[in-house]
Amino acid sequence: MEDEEVKWKIGCFSCARAVDWGEHYICISRLQRLRSEDGEDKIVEAMASLQVCIYCAARSQFDNLIFYKEVPLLELEEAGFHWFVKHLAGSTEPWALSRGKDNCSLCSSPIRIGDHYTQVEIGEETMDESGHVEVISESLFSLATTCDSCAERYMVWL
Ligand SMILES: [Zn+2]
Ligand SMILES: [Zn+2]
Repeated sequence: MEDEEVKWKIGCFSCARAVDWGEHYICISRLQRLRSEDGEDKIVEAMASLQVCIYCAARSQFDNLIFYKEVPLLELEEAGFHWFVKHLAGSTEPWALSRGKDNCSLCSSPIRIGDHYTQVEIGEETMDESGHVEVISESLFSLATTCDSCAERYMVWL
């Protein structure tokens, strides 16, 4: 018997459907980064906190979505998801939190060289059969930058 290559698909956190290769979905990622002098902040840890298929995203505009997820969603992620769906649909309402990279969006403390911080990003993505993820152009948006103590307080990393 031939070995079949194991292929996996992204699962929607709302309808639990496997998102087909090439289909769009919305993803929120938490990236733990290390602020460095050269501006190329290294990613220390990364996780997807929310993945929602495009049909559920559309549904979220008039329906209350229930998310089945592994980690509790942050308030700003839930708000960010709804904001982003409206944004994709053409809304010009600005995002409520500061998008600056040099201060924590929640407590405003400065993020200095050598500091760990967390960046919460949202984007529309698609994955192909080989597992390669492509971000649909210009759709990656930073919802927040948080300092380490805020990340701890809001249990961003469990
Ligand atoms: Zn779905
Ligand atoms: Zn903070």
